[in-house]
Amino acid sequence: MQRPYNFSAGPATLPQEVLTQAADEMLNWPDASGKRCGMGVMEMSHRGKEFISIYTQAEADLRELLAVPANFQILFMQGGGLAENAIVPLNLSTLRSGASQTGGADFVLTGSWSEKSFTEAGKYCNAHIAASGKSEGFTHIPAPQTWELSESASYVHICSNETINGIEFHTLPDLKALGSKAELVIDFSSHVASRGVDWSRVGLAFGGAQKNLGPAGLTLVVVREDLLGHAMAICPSAFNYQTVAKNQSMYNTPPTYAIYMAGLIFQWLKRQGGVVAMEAANKAKAELLYRTIDASGLYFNRVQKECRSHMNVPFFLRDESLNEAFLIGAKDAGLLQLKGHKSVGGMRASIYNAMPLEGVQALVSYMQEFERTHG
Ligand SMILES: *Cc1c(COP(=O)(O)O)cnc(C)c1O
Repeated sequence: MQRPYNFSAGPATLPQEVLTQAADEMLNWPDASGKRCGMGVMEMSHRGKEFISIYTQAEADLRELLAVPANFQILFMQGGGLAENAIVPLNLSTLRSGASQTGGADFVLTGSWSEKSFTEAGKYCNAHIAASGKSEGFTHIPAPQTWELSESASYVHICSNETINGIEFHTLPDLKALGSKAELVIDFSSHVASRGVDWSRVGLAFGGAQKNLGPAGLTLVVVREDLLGHAMAICPSAFNYQTVAKNQSMYNTPPTYAIYMAGLIFQWLKRQGGVVAMEAANKAKAELLYRTIDASGLYFNRVQKECRSHMNVPFFLRDESLNEAFLIGAKDAGLLQLKGHKSVGGMRASIYNAMPLEGVQALVSYMQEFERTHG
């Protein structure tokens, strides 16, 4: 059965073969040798040997896929990207000030998500805007050389892929080269596992799973070990990275089913050739879509070319009165959830790992046909 192509920004489309496998295993999970254990994954104790094997495999596969160095911990948490906006300052803002003083952090604002992170962090630390693309409507990344980094900041926060505005850091900033002693924190929610990560430039990365890794409910945190143990006294225990790390993400019950699903995605990613193959495929998909938009008289995208996202492609119709007809026609053509985020309007095609090239080709054909008949 060919399902419609689903361009949702998240929760987002998942590979059909993964969903089929999960359905087959729903009532009675088989171990690696194929032996069924009599329970579904949702029904297992998180401390039992069956789930521990699922967890251990998922962690190892993710470490391999993202080439996470041995001195980084992988944490499977809950609360989503938004909770991390509080959890990160609770854990890291006092890295350089010491726990008895209010710490500081710098923020580079490139869109809605980094703005949210800045506002939330202000509840827990001195949050400072080092650079902002807001006055230009969030269409570019301010050049790192122009960032006004504060002397005492414990970390610099960036959103490495702005899901709503469609802006992506294709290279992570090198804070050391900019003369900063701060750690780089990246919110990679919406492009995790779509490309490699230069861990030499990163202190902590976090992301909700529901864009590119699986179902909602799981939050991935990858943190360098020496950043653990600096949490503010008011930090909730379940959100203290050191506590979570010491307990292999089982200080409290982890989101077991979401970890299992993410684990199936990791194995699927490995079958696709890993993150290197994904990166090339994602680039090809994005280039096809942007080329179509740029060549058209009806559609446009406002983002500067060098920082256009390979994952989330917002675009607009020059005649906005055609928006409704565009969306209805798209649905009839088997192309779902293309409506743009309410804060920017227009359209948005999210083309995560699980979106095949054929899906983008179908979208491009539809866009061209719509322009011919409405242009
Ligand atoms: C979706 C998203 C979030 C929010 O995640 P929740 O799981 O809803 O809290 C945060 N940051 C980015 C970049 C996102 O795309």
